[in-house]
Amino acid sequence: MKFYSIQDPSFSVSFEQATLMGQAPLRGLFFPESIPHYSAHAINHLLSLSREELAFEVMYPYVSASIPDNVLREIVLDTIDFPTPLVEVNSTTSALELFHGPTWAFKDVGARFMSRCLGYFYRHHQGKTTVLVATSGDTGGAVANGFLDVEGVEVIILYPKGKVSPVQELQLTTCGKNITALAINGSFDDCQSMVKEAFMDTELIQHYQLTSANSINIARWLPQQLYYFFALQQWHKECDMPVVAVPSGNFGNIAAGLIAWRSGLPVAHFIAACNVNDAVARFLHGETYASRTSVPTISNAMDVGDPSNFIRILELFDQDTSSVRKMITGYSISDAATTACIQRVYETNGYLLDPHGAVAFQALENYISAHAGQKGIFLATAHPVKFPDVIKKTLGFDPLLPDAAKELFSKKPISIDMEPIYSHLKSWLLNR
Ligand SMILES: *Cc1c(COP(=O)(O)O)cnc(C)c1O
Repeated sequence: MKFYSIQDPSFSVSFEQATLMGQAPLRGLFFPESIPHYSAHAINHLLSLSREELAFEVMYPYVSASIPDNVLREIVLDTIDFPTPLVEVNSTTSALELFHGPTWAFKDVGARFMSRCLGYFYRHHQGKTTVLVATSGDTGGAVANGFLDVEGVEVIILYPKGKVSPVQELQLTTCGKNITALAINGSFDDCQSMVKEAFMDTELIQHYQLTSANSINIARWLPQQLYYFFALQQWHKECDMPVVAVPSGNFGNIAAGLIAWRSGLPVAHFIAACNVNDAVARFLHGETYASRTSVPTISNAMDVGDPSNFIRILELFDQDTSSVRKMITGYSISDAATTACIQRVYETNGYLLDPHGAVAFQALENYISAHAGQKGIFLATAHPVKFPDVIKKTLGFDPLLPDAAKELFSKKPISIDMEPIYSHLKSWLLNR
């Protein structure tokens, strides 16, 4: 299969090229030239397979021209090497828990798939490729873990010092080996602009082969479809299709869910659950789309003012805004409503939500209360342990650390402090 640039459909490349390029020229986003469609019978067959077989079959049409079957099988096995259970929270709502991976965030799946693909594409490559990435918390951990020990690739992560949670910081700073963490004395935006400048620096590019690992890369984006297939594998209320609520920031996850639905997966409706950064939710309610400056919230992985995958969603509906609005409802959930939800669900159902999952739970509940008889699934995208401050403030206790997190606290963090000034990053890169 080929992938074309939404901004210039005459430009199309293979899966390998699109993965290596990340972005199409002129900041274009790659999109699959066709989306496989399965009949209801074929979908039922897919859902009856093991998770591994299912994942292989779903990814196969997209990557088979670039990766041989046996390699794809290994990549897929590695990618989904942890459970994604569907847990019933109450009679109408279940959580698809996507936080049982190595860094307790759903980004593990995309980061692992992409890292293994790059490892394969670079197998004969002389010298080293450098993945340069800025993180507000979750992306960096997933990318660090995904690329750890991948040969021929080193990872340099910029994170805002003191502005990520303790668990997130340890995930960035304790990998060692081919992973280096730079603690930037500034904001996430500072980190991101330093990375952007590096990619445009022709002098630097003569010394480094730079690659980005951001979420618009198709190798990070496409495997996220698998969550939705895994959800339906475990959905035993066969008579009704679920409504699926997705906590959304850059809208990559929900856009992948919509691909799965386009392929024939039975989903009744999608909920785009946003915090107050609600540019897309406003569009879904009928306003003209307008990007906004992002506002910090307690569900910080969703603090995005101009979601990059929004145009992929339009493309999925052939740019027809009225059918987008028919299939997706947007909600904007405030921090106060988010913490109230965490408290209520914990007290009523004994289920501990993280702030991102809580935004989705609340949005789903709002939808279901207006559509009697519907049942739904929300994606629990991060483990509550990653947000101990919010849990402590809301519920009065510290979330219990999983064993692997305890191990993390016994490791020695190593990072390099840096001022948020591009020339400092450049001279460090050129003199190491
Ligand atoms: C990244 C992230 C999101 C947002 O996902 P998008 O694909 O950017 O919409 C939601 N929740 C958590 C915990 C995340 O890390």
